[in-house]
Amino acid sequence: MEKPAHIAIVPSPGMGHLIPLVEFAKKLTSQHNLSATFIIPNEGPLSKSQSEFLDSLPNAINYTLLPPVNFDDLPQDAKIETRISLMVTRSVTALHATISSMMADKNIVALFVDLFGTDAFDVAIEFGVPRYLFFPASAMILSLCLHLPKLDQMVSCEYRDVPDPIQIPGCIPIHGKDLLDPLQDRSNDAYKRVLHNAKRYLMADGIVVNSFKGLESGAIEALQLEEPGKPPIYPVGPLIQSGSVESNKGVNESSCLKWLDGQPCGSVLYICFGSGGTLSSEQVTELAMGLELSEQRFIWVVRTPNDIADATFFNSHGHEGSFDFLPKTFLEKTKNHGLVVPNWAPQAQILSHRSTGGFVTHCGWNSVLETIVQGVPMIVWPLYAEQKMNALMLAEGLKVAMRAKLNENGIVDRLEIVRVFKGLLEGDEGEAIRIRTQELKEAALSALSNDGYSTKTLDQLAFKLKNKI
Ligand code: UDP
Repeated sequence: MEKPAHIAIVPSPGMGHLIPLVEFAKKLTSQHNLSATFIIPNEGPLSKSQSEFLDSLPNAINYTLLPPVNFDDLPQDAKIETRISLMVTRSVTALHATISSMMADKNIVALFVDLFGTDAFDVAIEFGVPRYLFFPASAMILSLCLHLPKLDQMVSCEYRDVPDPIQIPGCIPIHGKDLLDPLQDRSNDAYKRVLHNAKRYLMADGIVVNSFKGLESGAIEALQLEEPGKPPIYPVGPLIQSGSVESNKGVNESSCLKWLDGQPCGSVLYICFGSGGTLSSEQVTELAMGLELSEQRFIWVVRTPNDIADATFFNSHGHEGSFDFLPKTFLEKTKNHGLVVPNWAPQAQILSHRSTGGFVTHCGWNSVLETIVQGVPMIVWPLYAEQKMNALMLAEGLKVAMRAKLNENGIVDRLEIVRVFKGLLEGDEGEAIRIRTQELKEAALSALSNDGYSTKTLDQLAFKLKNKI
């Protein structure tokens, strides 16, 4: 008798990549009777959030860590895309050995990698295992990545210097300066890594994208147009965190939710810049002063200031809960209507709480999807990676968000903060956004219903995997 179908998954580092892949694996294992192993490249011990998250996986999902890679040779200023991508590249030999030993007792029906992991495809090819890309970002970014090799050929200057907006198939035209960060400097290694992976996307037997038609119909339709050499595209989203990732050391999950219980319905702004986002010292001060002036209720996930916007990407526990860097009287003045949480909050639970009335977000794709599923209006405040593109889509394309605008010094100043915070919770624009957000929520729930498009797409994919079609 053939052994039960098993999938191998190689995530690239970062909670924002791990969370949706785990949700994907949970769906395949719980609904389609597959089992899965996460094979994890790393550069040393996992962060607290990663370990706790992985230790709470259901029985059908295992994980194993590959030997840590060495980055001593990388320049200090190597960009995050270089580090993430190289972590997978430098783990390929160890991955080969792991897959080889797994094949002795498991029926591996597919190897999944995510957006920076395509070098692992070589191992799948060698063992004759079907290979898949799991794309944890938007269909718009996937469409851009599949278009990138062509763009790279067509454009000789920096994309930000192209006078006309760039047309990504199926998407709103976008100025080069708003494309993802690693596309802003074509001479940097980070650009080369993104391009390298993007070219290899075509080697996949299929591409799974964490989005849905009701959210990104244009991009998804363009992606699904059949073209020679283009793998089938499976939109299965929104796949979002189904449990709490971890409780915070200082203010634990229950105290955060208890605080929310005592607030009026729809009155609290939740402010969080994902697992990796940090603000400069000046920006933290402006945000604190703006919060104080706006007099809105809030939960703010605070990290030690840092001039590098993605400073906590590999470890979201930057400090141990001292708030010395906040303006002196801020905590005292806001204690009756605000909660400051160090480093990490139970985001999924906060977003689903009835008291939460808005989310100030850096626009990481998981945060965007979690917010849409809960029907919470957004204030978009992009920091790095592809977040500017997500912010544009939400504020200007779908009109489900207000945008916090930067001043001439690149800071969202206190008056702008008061404008958007009050505007979202109290103004007419906020009301219009709330209505549209509810419509998107309905579309998300419909995609995930028993006969919804995303559910059916996942069923088809599972059938294909199990039958090795
Ligand atoms: N997250 C959380 N608590 C926090 C910060 C982040 O639970 O305090 C979770 C959040 O719910 C999301 C993920 O971490 O699932 C962050 O992913 P996203 O794509 O939004 O941003 P990234 O961290 O990749 O920039």
